[in-house]
Amino acid sequence: METPGNPTTIVYRLREALARVSTVIRADDWERAKRAGINPTQLAIIELLDGRKGGLGVKDIAAHLGVSQPTATDSIGALERKGFVEKRAIAGDRRAVVVALTASGKAVLDVDAMTSGAADQAVRALAAEEQDGLLLTLIRLIRALQEADAIPIQRMCASCRYFAPFAHPRAARPHHCRFVDAAFGQRELRIDCRDHETADPASRAATWEAFQAG
Ligand code: SF4
Repeated sequence: METPGNPTTIVYRLREALARVSTVIRADDWERAKRAGINPTQLAIIELLDGRKGGLGVKDIAAHLGVSQPTATDSIGALERKGFVEKRAIAGDRRAVVVALTASGKAVLDVDAMTSGAADQAVRALAAEEQDGLLLTLIRLIRALQEADAIPIQRMCASCRYFAPFAHPRAARPHHCRFVDAAFGQRELRIDCRDHETADPASRAATWEAFQAG
């Protein structure tokens, strides 16, 4: 019998815990998608395209969602038929297209933002310092997954060319965003910022080192 004195590894148990949370988030996503008359993959595509004015190619969409290109293509087709996304030609390349959100697609998210699922409520119930710690831990996990090429680069501050970590070392809001030229705190670190621009690999590494050191 498994006892506290003979546990599975911490990595295994953390994976179990993340899987449980992920199950609830997936169930929440089904509810949110149902309200919009779409499925969770289609909702994920709409969320991914939100704020990406230049759109994304099918290959990038598939990589971000962790699905095959045929699956992404099917979902994009369904969204296009509903008028939530449109395909646009890329200037100078007759064969290449990007997929972009339409005003109707954007409206899906505006309606959706008015609700919150069980996972949101559970996170909201955590103490502020627990939320801060969880955010930092998740940023580290996401970055490690990026470095391992398990997921594409996300639009996080940690990979952004505008991010100056601990530019104001002793202030309550220690970081600086050069895009809006303003200081911000740990709690405001972004996971998916619309204004993000990916820094080059050397700058990303230096920024991460400064962030960790702070
Ligand atoms: S532009 Fe966005 S991602 Fe970049 S540093 Fe500013 S807040 Fe962070």
